[in-house]
Amino acid sequence: MSDRHGGTEVVEGGGENDDECFVPLSPVLLDASGVPALECRNTGTEGVEVGKNLNQQQVPVKGTGKVVGGRWEENGNYSRGIHAPEDGGTLGKKRRPVTVDTSKAKTSLEGLKISIRQLKWREIPTGRRAPCDIYWHGVSFHDNENITSGQVNKFPGMLEMSRKINLSRAVRIMQELFPVEYDFYPRSWILPDEYQQFSTQIRTVKESDETLDPTFIVKPDGGSQGEGIYLIRDPAELRAAGAQARQAVVQEYIRKPLLVDKLKFDIRLYVLLKSLEPLEIYIAKEGLTRFCTEPYQEPSQKNLGHVFMHLTNYSLNVHSGNFVHSESQSTGSKRTLSSVLRRLAAKGVDVKRLWSDIIALVIKTVVAVAPQLKVYYQADIPPGKPGPSCFQILGFDILLMKNLKPVLLEVNSNPSMRIEHEQEVAPRVFECVPSPVDEEVKVGVIRDTLRLVDPGLKKASSSQWKSVGVEEAGGDAMPSPCLKQVYPKYSRQFNYLRLVERIAALFIRFLGVKGNMRLGPTAFRTFIRNCKLSSSNFTMASVDILYIDIVRRWSGALPDSREAGMGLQAFVEAFFYLAARRFKSQTPREQAASLLDLCEAQLESRTPGPEERRSLSCSRAASRGAAGAPKHQAHAQQPGPHSPAPLPRRASSQDCRRAKPRSREAHAEN
Ligand code: ADP
Repeated sequence: MSDRHGGTEVVEGGGENDDECFVPLSPVLLDASGVPALECRNTGTEGVEVGKNLNQQQVPVKGTGKVVGGRWEENGNYSRGIHAPEDGGTLGKKRRPVTVDTSKAKTSLEGLKISIRQLKWREIPTGRRAPCDIYWHGVSFHDNENITSGQVNKFPGMLEMSRKINLSRAVRIMQELFPVEYDFYPRSWILPDEYQQFSTQIRTVKESDETLDPTFIVKPDGGSQGEGIYLIRDPAELRAAGAQARQAVVQEYIRKPLLVDKLKFDIRLYVLLKSLEPLEIYIAKEGLTRFCTEPYQEPSQKNLGHVFMHLTNYSLNVHSGNFVHSESQSTGSKRTLSSVLRRLAAKGVDVKRLWSDIIALVIKTVVAVAPQLKVYYQADIPPGKPGPSCFQILGFDILLMKNLKPVLLEVNSNPSMRIEHEQEVAPRVFECVPSPVDEEVKVGVIRDTLRLVDPGLKKASSSQWKSVGVEEAGGDAMPSPCLKQVYPKYSRQFNYLRLVERIAALFIRFLGVKGNMRLGPTAFRTFIRNCKLSSSNFTMASVDILYIDIVRRWSGALPDSREAGMGLQAFVEAFFYLAARRFKSQTPREQAASLLDLCEAQLESRTPGPEERRSLSCSRAASRGAAGAPKHQAHAQQPGPHSPAPLPRRASSQDCRRAKPRSREAHAEN
């Protein structure tokens, strides 16, 4: 990623443009309603129709041999009418209040309570035996076990997918297919697997141009709040510290960030993944910006260790003598996003364009993690088994380069929803005091999320959600919604990126219904056979060798691997290999699309046997919904082919496997 034009403060320099580093977005993405300061025009279910007819499914009831009709719920869950609002959700009628189990809400509790009060809903603070409409978890999907109905505010597997290594891998797969579209993520190497590759590449780069002096940031996998993060200038520094053997991501350091008041800052953007199937994404118009507390200088050997200059984490900077608790939204070390955007706009920055680039980054990132999330989903809540549907608030950390290009730093599955902060009121005496900036932003996000997942709203048109919110609050006017739908609203621009979801649908189809997350050798053979991918040139013996080879490499770096077999990312690698073999003259993206078309056509024309029919019913909806559009349509929407620079195929490493529910404290990442 090039940031060689950046450096000093754009706020001072004013609206400097640097076309080279903008993400090239095909048409201008947004209308004026996309700009945060303006009123959100929610367009509701636009674009959903694509999957409409495909939604009706037949599902086997486990152990009974019966198949019942049902449909895929909006959140990706398969529903057999498990959850209907008591009064049918009719607008205008008096409904029983929606119940929210807050017993596991942890640090979100204060903001959640305020929101529930505002909506005149009912809080169930200690949890209860009778089912609730909504379960608010503080850490993961598994905070409460055995939920069979209602909605949970976490997706299975999101905690795992937001780990640094898994996110990097998911983005990297997309970079193989769409290198231009996915250039918003800094170049990354995964340790320990890719240490050698990292060393060699950097040595080659430095030898080819001695003036280049890149800096890298090392981030331990699973770390948060800046813990264990440090900067290096040479791969040898990793080896010297013995760090090349630890699980981490080492990443190109963005040397020239945009500065405000001479300080580096990053953006915390709240994103609601309302549903995985069909994909529905909302972005909060208001977010936070977190400021460093020491004036920024480009990295040099002398200042590499200055965390208050290089790292924007609240948890670190709050310990700096320069930290200023914000009294207003536009001052201090934590400010609202809109106040920063207003300042940029006043300096001539094209804020509309910037916002549109940020929306594109968010949609593309969700598209990158969705395939693996679907695998987790079907493993935890298999079709035909009663279970809740899911939604989740995510925290996107975004850095702006000096040329205004947004860069994804990470996705937090548990963004802090705290609305107070600790203050030292006397020496060593700390007190929790309200933080007006946090409250303003976070209560709006929680309240709007609740309004959007209101079970009564399902029956109403979701474009009406604004008025429903008002009605539910007993006629009291609610603040206008801060969450804005971006997907499916902009699905036309982004549908063509959803190729890996289609590969995941194939994968899920051959997984079977046992809650597995890995393909065994027999299932892989069945995939090859049913899709007619073997030939005299590529015999079933070669298929077995391919399977063994890929599985061995992927499991090599999995010291705690309990489940044997081929995970989704390994399957994607096998799929790319098969595609490259078959469609030699095409680009990787065209190869993958051609092989998908071929496989899907073969599977559609087959009459499945009874065993297969069972697994088919699990995956058909995912398969069809994956691209959000029929395959020919997805193709038609693709822009002209690119010739992506081939990324090295992954060696081995940590797969995104099904982890036992882990108890991990919620991030307090601000
Ligand atoms: P954590 O989860 O530990 O906070 P992050 O990936 O968010 O880890 O990194 C911590 C901080 O380091 C970020 O808030 C940002 O200020 C800085 N940072 C992270 N990655 C980069 C990068 N590639 N270039 C420049 N700064 C970065």
